[in-house]
Amino acid sequence: MSIAENLALVQEKIARAAKASGREPGDVLLVGATKMNDAARVKEAIAAGLPCCGENRVQELLEKNAAGAYEGAQLHFIGTLQKNKAKYLVGLVSLIHSVDSEALMREIGRQAEKRGLTQDILLEINTGGEVSKSGFRPEELPAALEKAGEIPGIRVRGLMTVPPICRAPEENLPYFRLLRQLFIDNGEKKYDNVHMDFMSMGMSGDYEAAIACGANIVRVGTAIFGQRIYPAGKG
Ligand SMILES: *Cc1c(COP(=O)(O)O)cnc(C)c1O
Repeated sequence: MSIAENLALVQEKIARAAKASGREPGDVLLVGATKMNDAARVKEAIAAGLPCCGENRVQELLEKNAAGAYEGAQLHFIGTLQKNKAKYLVGLVSLIHSVDSEALMREIGRQAEKRGLTQDILLEINTGGEVSKSGFRPEELPAALEKAGEIPGIRVRGLMTVPPICRAPEENLPYFRLLRQLFIDNGEKKYDNVHMDFMSMGMSGDYEAAIACGANIVRVGTAIFGQRIYPAGKG
């Protein structure tokens, strides 16, 4: 199947899942996880209607951006971000999904202030409590939101999670429900700089389940672009 055919199928499933949860297809943003796909393949997906690209690595993003890969689409950053690389992204991407520490919030804010802009971010939540994963622990979220309110240059737009790897989509439901609960509970409190607009969860294997749990951003790679071929040793 071509990228365009895959994309059409994913969009159809998103539309169905959105309707089933009482929303419109346009209420869910599809972010194509474009890692390991070159500029030509990214352009092909955008030409076929992909509205937004999400990259994981700063270097790869900068190279593909220089090649004009993202023209005609929004650009988000969805991978783990080292503080010293925030400067490359601020103002270039419209949303950073994966903000996982107060230090990173401060650095993004500092870079944004330098450029005279406000950077939209999501806070990443480690819903599975995995030691190997980044993200705030659920109980750390209120303090993180409080802090975010004091940092100029950033605006928190919602939450993001990457749940533990599961065999079946329904095994992820507890993690998706936890993110939804955090989104609701913390959205009711009024923090400065915080607008609980987006819940970013769901990947190729489980985006329909995530939408059923309230996701309004899904990040889909394999189902659009096919299996990624990782160089040996990079797994
Ligand atoms: C790669 C990636 C995805 C997409 O994963 P697929 O299973 O290929 O759909 C989503 N989110 C993040 C953070 C990723 O790195």
